Amino acid sequence: MNHTKSTNVVRLAETLMPGGVNSPVRAFKSVDFSPIIISRAKESRIFDIDGNEYIDYVMSYGPMILGHADDRIIKAITGASVNGFSFGATTEAEVELAGLITKNVSSMEMVRLVNSGTEAVMSALRLARGYTEKDKIIKFEGCYHGHSDLMLVKAGSGALTMSTPSSAGITECPSKNTLVASYNDIESVKKIFQKNKGNIAGIIIEPVAANMGVVLPKEGFLSDLMDLAHENNSLIIFDEVITGFRLSMGGAQGLFDLKPDITCLGKIIGGGLPIGAFGGKRDIMEYLSPIGPVYQAGTLSGNPICVASGIATLKAMKEDNAISKANEALDYMVSNLKNELKGRLGDGIAINSISSILTIFFKKGSVGNFSEVMQSDTNAFKKFFGMILNEGLFVAPSQYEAMFLSSRHTKDDLDKTILIIKKAIEKLF
Ligand SMILES: *Cc1c(COP(=O)(O)O)cnc(C)c1O
Repeated sequence: MNHTKSTNVVRLAETLMPGGVNSPVRAFKSVDFSPIIISRAKESRIFDIDGNEYIDYVMSYGPMILGHADDRIIKAITGASVNGFSFGATTEAEVELAGLITKNVSSMEMVRLVNSGTEAVMSALRLARGYTEKDKIIKFEGCYHGHSDLMLVKAGSGALTMSTPSSAGITECPSKNTLVASYNDIESVKKIFQKNKGNIAGIIIEPVAANMGVVLPKEGFLSDLMDLAHENNSLIIFDEVITGFRLSMGGAQGLFDLKPDITCLGKIIGGGLPIGAFGGKRDIMEYLSPIGPVYQAGTLSGNPICVASGIATLKAMKEDNAISKANEALDYMVSNLKNELKGRLGDGIAINSISSILTIFFKKGSVGNFSEVMQSDTNAFKKFFGMILNEGLFVAPSQYEAMFLSSRHTKDDLDKTILIIKKAIEKLF
């Protein structure tokens, strides 16, 4: 595969933007590969400026559950743009999106729209602290909740990939209020509560961890966590920026039948345009400005074009039964991969998956928590990444990310993918 044009643009980009990128993982640093520069994408396929075509499993890190450039979403975005781009006043469409979100995600009685997942989490944590009048937040090692100061302590995703899970530039104050527990280890949370009696505003968690690679919650872990929070008059916050409208129309909480106090959304609810949302119980949400004491605002919040994209995405998902289709695609891929890789499963390869996300870990034995994730052979992943990219598969350039399937991945895409992955893994061992 020829990457000459991409390599030239990367060279220029590196003189103009730190690392040549606007978000760290895009620099492909952990896989020693020169990044590909994207020209366009349609359905399950993405194209670089050298004209190479890839089956896409990055899917913008989650939003594109309908595949790229769906005609209905294009129509919604272009239609909305004709009426103006931003008003600084409320539109009917914002109310419609709020209705769609609260109808599907039953714990969200009220919602506020923001511009990113980071902003949703940052605001939700301020709300939790304002509401409980407590300072400290518990998070889990390897979970990623965006890049606000409070959350860049032992974070996942790009922060983990770049070996800076705890960022520089953050004063002692926010990080001393962030207490870090171990995912799937309820005892580690109990210990924190014992040591910080009366000081915990809330627990934030990805109900299915997807930013250290996919790691599923153990049976009972989430409900134990919720009980523990409530026994201590603390709030439980589900960060469903990835799992929302993916694991079910009601998110992970819909799938597991749980009702957190606050939920954060992003990614799919914008259909690829920048958006975020947080919401929850009415009496908590009414603590928000202008009717409550917790301030939160945004010039572009509820932007009409992003909102139009979000509404059209949620409606099209329902129309297409998109979640079932993406789930079927994943089931097909994972069952075939497990079959093809039988000899390696548990002996160098572990596959974690749920609904339409998966991670192939290069590790002996299973992967059920952060320390097992960290035993992965990132060198093997690096070689794997280069091999499959050159064969036409685009996956995130990190062992610690998920592969995302969409309703537009065809059987042909999946068969090609299975074959390419099988060959690459056979070469590696
Ligand atoms: C992507 C992500 C975020 C951050 O969202 P941005 O839109 O990138 O700010 C927060 N939490 C989780 C679980 C995410 O996957």
